[in-house]
Amino acid sequence: MAAPHPKDPGTRSTAAVLRFAPSPNGLLHLGHALSAFENRAMADRLGGRLLLRIEDIDTTRCRPDFEAAAREDLAWLGLSFDGPVRRQSDHSDAYRAALDRLDAMGLIFASFESRSELKALADRREAETGHPWPRDPDGAPLYAGRGRSLSREARSGLIAAGQPHALRLDMAAALARIGAPLGWTEVDEAGRPAREVIAHPERWGDVVLARKDVGTSYHLSVVVDDALQGVTHVVRGLDLIEATAVHRLLQDLLGLPVPLYRHHRLITGPDGRKLSKSEQATGLRALRGAGATPADVRRMIGIDS
Ligand code: GLU
Repeated sequence: MAAPHPKDPGTRSTAAVLRFAPSPNGLLHLGHALSAFENRAMADRLGGRLLLRIEDIDTTRCRPDFEAAAREDLAWLGLSFDGPVRRQSDHSDAYRAALDRLDAMGLIFASFESRSELKALADRREAETGHPWPRDPDGAPLYAGRGRSLSREARSGLIAAGQPHALRLDMAAALARIGAPLGWTEVDEAGRPAREVIAHPERWGDVVLARKDVGTSYHLSVVVDDALQGVTHVVRGLDLIEATAVHRLLQDLLGLPVPLYRHHRLITGPDGRKLSKSEQATGLRALRGAGATPADVRRMIGIDS
């Protein structure tokens, strides 16, 4: 549990808590800078704390040198964080416990098809029906495999035999369990409620919550951490707004508190697309190497005030 903010020792239960949560699977770019500055600005406005969380559950892609580079780049920008840093790879037990709870509620099933098999299955359904098979907001076909029909014994046997698999949320069962429609409050840059958003978790189908090689997913670990860290305001890019629907569903199923959300504008490249970690030109390190200052970065992302 993080220590109370030194400036605000008496009002801890009501003080705002925000987090910036990069994944160290590449170098930070201008989009990360915007997100970090947006978080810092709102935390300061609300007199709250800003935590740094390292989202490194995918050990096949995350690297300690990327984490070190991220922390150095953030310090170069003049961004500071409050309280201890939480590194997700240190907390797999917490995510496992949440997964076990959902499993005990009968909401988890295992699937053993590979991504390419699932794509072929969706293509076949499209050919059979003449209609496009639905895709999730990331563009992947909704799950059309037979995992849900496997018995518990068959599932345990395959897992024990070391078969690659994904553990999925049974979306229909999860929605039936919560009953009421889901939504969240979107706040403006000052943290004031601006609009109510209806959540559509069904758009994700039977979303993956863990895999054999990565024992949790972004969706599961982020809701567990936001709750454990007492996060009151989640500030992140618009590219994650559809994911928030899954987060709202998981919060309701697990009985977790619901933060306020702000999904901010994205920085796009010259081609109009969202920046990626592999594009050198917009990387903070490359810009710094080319002589840019933190003030230049602020101007480039449009927060020169
Ligand atoms: N780790 C995510 C990313 O780097 C951010 C997650 C979040 O803010 O919820 O895109």
